[in-house]
Amino acid sequence: MSRPPRPHLPMRPLWRCRACGAEWPCQAARLALLVDYRDDRAGLLVYLSTLMAEAGTQLSQLNGHALPENLTERFLAWARAR
Ligand SMILES: [Zn+2]
Repeated sequence: MSRPPRPHLPMRPLWRCRACGAEWPCQAARLALLVDYRDDRAGLLVYLSTLMAEAGTQLSQLNGHALPENLTERFLAWARAR
């Protein structure tokens, strides 16, 4: 029996995907979130904003207190309604 695939969740404090190792949210995580929140885009953006704030704090601590660039792009831009 094969094990179920690992969910594409962030590994803190590096914010890389546990399943595929890409910067989170990876493509698979984005798709899963869009499905989960398909009827609640505003809720998705609130959720992502919360995670972005947490990631910003943790990543900047790893990064000599410099805030990583493109966090908004990475966490929010793709989720905004088109
Ligand atoms: Zn992934």
